[in-house]
This record gives sequence, C-alpha cells and structure tokens, in this order.
Amino acid sequence: MLLISMGNTLKTAFELSGVGLHSGETTTVKVLPDESNQGRYFVRVDLPNQPIIPATVQAVSQTTLSTELAQGEAKVRTVEHLLASLAASGVDDARIEIDGAEVPLLDGSAKLWLEAIAAVGIVSSVCDRSPWLLRQPIWIQEGDAFVAALPSPETRFTYGIDFPYSAIANQWHSWSCQEGNFAQEVAPARTFGLAEQIEHLQQAGLIRGGSLENALVCSKSGWLNPPLRFTNEPARHKLLDLVGDLSLLGRFPQAHFLAYKASHKLHIQLARTLADLDQLN
Ligand SMILES: [Zn+2]
Repeated sequence: MLLISMGNTLKTAFELSGVGLHSGETTTVKVLPDESNQGRYFVRVDLPNQPIIPATVQAVSQTTLSTELAQGEAKVRTVEHLLASLAASGVDDARIEIDGAEVPLLDGSAKLWLEAIAAVGIVSSVCDRSPWLLRQPIWIQEGDAFVAALPSPETRFTYGIDFPYSAIANQWHSWSCQEGNFAQEVAPARTFGLAEQIEHLQQAGLIRGGSLENALVCSKSGWLNPPLRFTNEPARHKLLDLVGDLSLLGRFPQAHFLAYKASHKLHIQLARTLADLDQLN
C-alpha cells in the first residue's frame, strides 16, 4: 500500500514567501514536522475549517502548466518543486501550511526549498529505504512524447526535450538517487518558457507571476536572460518536475523513469498507472 509512510520528517519548521507563477499572488508556506504518519499534505490555513489537501495522486485536479491538488473546494497549485524537494530530501511526512491557492515560485527552481530543508535538518536519504520493485515496464505515449517506468537496479530519472529553438534544441539529463546530488544537480534548475507563448498564456490567465527574475525565457534568437546555471538547465528542470509529480506516489518505486517531451499531464498519467499497480501488489 502506497500511502504508508516511512516516518521521516523535518526536525523543525521553516517558512518561505513569494509570488505564485500563475496567480501572481503572494503566499506564505510554512512546512512543519508531522509525526502522525500522514505523509505529505497541505493545509489551506486561510480558508474556514483549514481544509487538508493530501499530496497524493488521487488528489490531482489539474495539470495545465503546473500540478494542482484539490480536496473538495480547497485547491493548491504548482506544488511540484516543493514536493520534489521534500521527497528527494527524504521527508516522508510534512504538514505544509499555505495561506493561498498557489505555492510561491521563488527563483523558479527548487534551490531555496532544498536549502531551507537542509537548514532545519534532513533525516535521511530517499534511497535508504526498502524499495518497491517495479517488475514490468510501463509506457505511456502521446504523439512523439512519452513517459516510461522500467525495471532497474537503481532508482533513476532521465529526461529529454526537443524544441525548435537553437538555444534549447535536443537535450537530456539523467539523475540517480544512489549516485546523484539532487541539491547540486537538479534543484537549482529554473522554470523556462518561450517568449512567443508568453502573451497567449497571459491572455489565458496563466503565468501572471512570471518574470525574467523567476523564469528563463527563450526566443528564436536565444535566451533573453542568461546566464544559465547549467548548459542543459531546461532538461534538468523538467526532471525536477517529474520527481515532484511522481512524489505524489508517497514513495518512489525502484525503477528507471524515462520521459521525452512530456508534460505534467503525462507525468500524472504515469503516477496513476503506478499507483494502480502498487494497489494490486
Ligand atoms: Zn517546474
């Protein structure tokens, strides 16, 4: 059963505030230790009765350009960078209090979340626990995009993207729980977008909080706000999003997760398929 927690939590609480990418509204997130083995969950402290929204696959309500969770009327959006940071740091149980409907984007990466978690205390690594072994390959394809989970001797995430912009083009990144350092190799990679899509997305009521301060923006002639933190920073950021979306499983199966040109929608389809498989075990 997926949602049985392994019990690692934070030593003390920490708090960060900032603007949400899509809403443009400022919220404060307070992440607290949870010793009741409830996994990772959000609490909308600004709403009457402070509803709880579990960070589980079953709670996913929307995947347009970010992952949104809901429980009844209560929602929280753009949860993926914070959840990736908690999961990759080995924090299984956490109470995440938020006073609005979207997690702050901060600098567009997971760097500040990782630093805050490290500052209050990381209990253990996500790789130290007895794994749930994936025994059969799973493929989900949509056009030329796909996500896959393959039986593997280690837990690894590999991501490829391909854009008709020479500054991005075809690029890949691969990160293993066992060998890699998430804080250094993945967490600092920032959100990115395409200059020609910005107006269209803003007209659709999205990315109201996006700026050249919190997202890399690419045009046909190159990046509008260099320098990049890594030559393949966009592929690393997509990998970060995949880790955050699959963290909704509660724990990662031991598998090689492989994604190409995918999106939150495909990530969540893979998570749902894995959750169904785990329930059969
Ligand atoms: Zn992201």
